[in-house]
Amino acid sequence: MTSSLLITGPPGSGKSRVALQRFSAVSDSVLLAPTATMAEHIRNQLARAGAMVRPSRITTLAQFIDLRNQHSRPAPQLALHLLIERALSRAIAQAHSSARWTPFARVANFPGFHRALAALMEEVPADSLSGSFGEDLKSLFEEVETNLARHGMALRNARLKASPEGPCPAHVVFDGFFTLSTAELDFVERVAAVSPVTFTLPDWPGAQGARQRLLSAGFAEQRCTSLFRSPERTTFSAPTLDREIEEIARRILAHAARGREFREMGVVLRTRDPYGPALETTFARFGIPARFYFADALSAHPAVAYLSGWVRGLLSGWDHASLLTLLRMPVSGIGATPAGDRLDFELRNRLPGAGLPLHGIQDVPQVNRSLGLIDSAWLRERLSPLEWAARLKTLRSLLPEPVVADDASYDQVRIWRSTAAALEAFDSALDQTAVALAGEGRMTLAAFWRHADAALALEPLRIADRRRNVVHVLDVFEARQWELPIVFVCGLTERHFPQYHREDPLLNDEGRRRAGLETSADRQTQERFLFELAATRPTEQLVLSYPRFNDRGEPALPSFFLDGAAAESCETRVRPTLVFSAPVPSASIPPASTVQINDPPLLERLAQVHMKLAPTSIESFLQCPFQFFAGKTLRLRRRPPAPRDRLDVLLQGSILHRALAELTRFPLLGAEVFDQVFADECRRVRVPSTYRTEAVRLELRSNFNAFVADRQVQLGWASRVEEKFALHLNPALAISGRIDRLDVGPRNQALVIDYKYSAGDRIRERVDDTASGDLVQAGLYLLAAARTFGLHPVGMLYCGLRKEVNWDGWHAPVAGLEAIGESMTPSALQDFMNAAATKAEATFAAIASGHIAPQPANPRKCVWCDFRDICRIETAAAARTASAP
Ligand code: SF4
Repeated sequence: MTSSLLITGPPGSGKSRVALQRFSAVSDSVLLAPTATMAEHIRNQLARAGAMVRPSRITTLAQFIDLRNQHSRPAPQLALHLLIERALSRAIAQAHSSARWTPFARVANFPGFHRALAALMEEVPADSLSGSFGEDLKSLFEEVETNLARHGMALRNARLKASPEGPCPAHVVFDGFFTLSTAELDFVERVAAVSPVTFTLPDWPGAQGARQRLLSAGFAEQRCTSLFRSPERTTFSAPTLDREIEEIARRILAHAARGREFREMGVVLRTRDPYGPALETTFARFGIPARFYFADALSAHPAVAYLSGWVRGLLSGWDHASLLTLLRMPVSGIGATPAGDRLDFELRNRLPGAGLPLHGIQDVPQVNRSLGLIDSAWLRERLSPLEWAARLKTLRSLLPEPVVADDASYDQVRIWRSTAAALEAFDSALDQTAVALAGEGRMTLAAFWRHADAALALEPLRIADRRRNVVHVLDVFEARQWELPIVFVCGLTERHFPQYHREDPLLNDEGRRRAGLETSADRQTQERFLFELAATRPTEQLVLSYPRFNDRGEPALPSFFLDGAAAESCETRVRPTLVFSAPVPSASIPPASTVQINDPPLLERLAQVHMKLAPTSIESFLQCPFQFFAGKTLRLRRRPPAPRDRLDVLLQGSILHRALAELTRFPLLGAEVFDQVFADECRRVRVPSTYRTEAVRLELRSNFNAFVADRQVQLGWASRVEEKFALHLNPALAISGRIDRLDVGPRNQALVIDYKYSAGDRIRERVDDTASGDLVQAGLYLLAAARTFGLHPVGMLYCGLRKEVNWDGWHAPVAGLEAIGESMTPSALQDFMNAAATKAEATFAAIASGHIAPQPANPRKCVWCDFRDICRIETAAAARTASAP
């Protein structure tokens, strides 16, 4: 054994610094890190410190093994997966023929199962397997290992067993490893037998075995005991994950405004999801440059997803929902445009469906070109894997060529770069698939694509990002060699940080222990260590944070790692400051979405457009002028729901309304009316027949039957249903509407009835809101009964149909209605009508004045508003704003 050193100590005690000093002290030392990005980080760190080091001297353990093992190549992921799939099929066929149970039959086709097997195979050799599925796994692993060996390939654990070949470096430094498996420790010892080794190992229970083994192998130990960082520590909580991230963005911008470089700050995550994507969009919104140290699968890149989408579309018989997904992608040439949205709305209403031609979609040039290239005849052809690969590579012509301009923004250039890299990787994945399937003979597109699809999902796509001044976002494993002045560690709730680990379903803890692998208990112990690791990354300030509620709105339990530390509560919503091309004093920036139209022609147009108002439109304005403007003036519409979501409360209400109207017209049909109307409406809007549809039908039918059986309003008067009216309040304004039911008495008395698919408390709320002047429907309907139908109004009743039948409202004393609603004198009823008319005229004047603002009369109703994502009500109240310096 040459003179080798083991450097140990707690996280943050400077082990890596000592290791780097030893690395620099011996020329031709080689430093090995666990991952490529960590190796890159160390190279950058040394470059910033002015040290000139050949990049090949800082590399990964995997690359080091590759360079020193000429006998076998590492197994490419696709080849490994293909061999696993074949071994599984054979094992299942054998078990089937001998009528034997096999544990893998039900999961054999799941890509996730193949991935789990591949990861385990890389870790543990077949001869070390035991445990519940030990024997089954063993024969599977042996078959895969034998087949790999036949092609000159081997798994990682086998390659670790081989002695390093060729000249060994003068000194090898291993830095950033938490612990080592038995095979890795064997490898380190073999290296140490020929070259001095420096190894850093943090203090935590999971590393003790490796420490003992290295000390027994003759390593001297150097302890780093004193923590050389003592950052200020603060903790905050926010109501939700989104608010938590916005608060982090605000603090980063505040630091940047005080002169702190973005590159001096980092966010450390326990796992990429759910924080990574949310941070990406929030930082983009706030203009914070950030680099995310995560690799996406190639299949997730939009360009590759688009090309793959066309192949899947062809294989699925042109399923319309999948085609619409393609159409909505910006790369389609029509996605994210007004024309694209219109077409999407129109086609979504016609879902579900499959097949071509699909009216509308083929008029889009980009789509037309795609359909011209991808011929349905492909489905009947049988080609060699090489031919399929060559043909599918032509799909890249479906993407528009970028038009490069001198003034292209950084983001645009980044998109071009990543698309070019993704297309190169797409071609290469197809080539790899063809190579892996060589010798399989001619096959269908479906057979080839199954493997190509797997290759695209297995291949990671890393886009080089050379920006220097960026906030670093990385997971806790990647962060182990970093130190930054300011670090945010977010998501500190139980089950996120710490996570809770279960036994590996493939190889249980007993089997893992025997194979020298970490168990679920080891991983659990590791959580505390990971937290300490994250908390010791900053040199000046550590900011810990957590959301108080989860995504279902339930209270979240703060992480026990916080040890009950007091947390500052951050309640105020933070928004990025609007960025104007010319500087605008912040005081003159209007609250988002508040507008005053002053242009006379526009005001005149506004009055013209709304010269006829429905009572519901007036009530929409009274609830919120912005809601009215978005829904009634701009006529913005919700994206049509997917087929499974179409039977919503609105449709359920309209089914009941129509069924009740039909019942009044054809009383002898009774409950059959309902079944007929329900079936008609579901057919009309193409609601699929599902369990939920049947459950909703039964609930509505029971509500309908309850109404039929109800005897609370039995005046014996003639009923007229769905009576339309148009009522002029003044020369500039008419009110139009449709009365659900008008019961007419012998002396032309009119009782107006309006059905609502609501429960009793909502009906009462409506009556109260009417009394306080926030609703006008009742008064205007009564007025219409008088002026349009020439009747003598005596009352207006709401009938709530949900759960049980509820009647409420107002009437001049009518015999038979004593137990219902409020009774009032005829003159009070007249005042009630006049007040509604006055309110309607005042509302029209307010609409025509051109003032548009998010001002909800009842903020609780905002949760049901279709425009809550665009009105930016929060900005009106935001006390704090943040902007990039
Ligand atoms: S969410 Fe509230 S404030 Fe926003 S438009 Fe709707 S009602 Fe108005």
